[in-house]
Amino acid sequence: MKLADRLSLIKPSPTLAITAKAKAMKAEGIDVVGFGAGEPDFDTPEYIKQAAVDALAKGKTKYTDTPGIPELRDALTAFYKKTEGLEYKRSETIFSNGGKHSLYNIFMAILSPGDEVIIPTPYWVSYPDMTLLADGKPVFLKTEEKNGFLFTAGDLERLVTSRTKAIVINSPSNPSGAVYDEATLKAICSVAIKHKITVIWDEIYKDVYYGEGKLRSLPYYNPDVKPYTLIVGGLSKSYSMTGWRIGWTLGDAAIIEGMNIIQGQSTSNPVSFAQYGALAALNAGLTHLPAWVEEFRKRRDYLVKELNAIPGTRCLNPMGAFYVFPNVSGWFGKSWRGGVIKDSYDATAFLLETARVAVVPGDPFGAPENIRLSYALSMGEIEKGVDRIRKAVAELR
Ligand code: PMP
Ligand code: GLU
Repeated sequence: MKLADRLSLIKPSPTLAITAKAKAMKAEGIDVVGFGAGEPDFDTPEYIKQAAVDALAKGKTKYTDTPGIPELRDALTAFYKKTEGLEYKRSETIFSNGGKHSLYNIFMAILSPGDEVIIPTPYWVSYPDMTLLADGKPVFLKTEEKNGFLFTAGDLERLVTSRTKAIVINSPSNPSGAVYDEATLKAICSVAIKHKITVIWDEIYKDVYYGEGKLRSLPYYNPDVKPYTLIVGGLSKSYSMTGWRIGWTLGDAAIIEGMNIIQGQSTSNPVSFAQYGALAALNAGLTHLPAWVEEFRKRRDYLVKELNAIPGTRCLNPMGAFYVFPNVSGWFGKSWRGGVIKDSYDATAFLLETARVAVVPGDPFGAPENIRLSYALSMGEIEKGVDRIRKAVAELR
């Protein structure tokens, strides 16, 4: 049977593909070091698991309201009031099956054919494909490694056309770990307001930050941008709840209602008892997180230092999230037994075959000279992986 034309617009998620490949190799007994998945290695805090178990025991196993149980939506508005000083009403919130689903619903709710979405490079692999699935047109805003993979308000304004509907900002960024400073964000807010552009503000890594102080949601930097901002967050990263599939959106009530309609005709509510776990998580706050961030920081410091010491490898110091994104163009043109390394896909294949190390190529992130390593794995595994990379690169001719 001929499958739908829309499938030819997109490709399988490369982050999920490499993770599945590493898992399959491990299942075959091959000792792979997996730097693939962007998934914290910590366990979900016990009290959250218990809240979901209690919900099951109490029979909370039925459909809920499509955008989530009212007490969870209210807990979310209370969370943003407490942590950001931002006021949202219940009607300005919706829970979906992970931040990924939140984003998908947003694109489906706001884009008409040909509407442009500005996506700064390097980007998380799913933004362009989701835009295409929703009949939108990705417009890439290229950033440079020498500028820390950051863009300015001027760079943004140059790309704005009459078809510009939205821009996606992910700070801290997956894959680069780059973080925008306050002055740049204020200037970006002014451009968004001036041209009435929706800012899809993906703050899924907001609390995994290595700098001074803490990062805030976009409207904190300029309250006037609030009507234009869709805040996307979730529990996957900061509570280590990737498998629970809980994400949220806060923003304009009409857009939220549009997302609610799409969700109601496709997936209905997020899993009922997962919502009760999420309720416990939001009510408790992020007390567990400082210890996790310290552990991530040690791993980051080690990786940045060691990778920069490997010939042909250059690695910026990420300020947030849990990825390093080294430039490996110094390996290009060199040979191993599998052939010549021409691009980031070859670099990835080389590492998997010779070093038994799984990483993600930079190409599908819009950064063809880089590879991504997630450091959501133990220090022992990281040391083993780095040692293997060092030895494999030393063999390149
Ligand atoms: N945004 C970014 C930048 C991500 O890396 C991810 C990947 N987990 C998500 C959103 C979505 O995460 P989830 O669906 O697990 O909430
Ligand atoms: N976002 C994570 C990553 O980039 C998880 C996989 C995915 O959903 O893409 O690795």
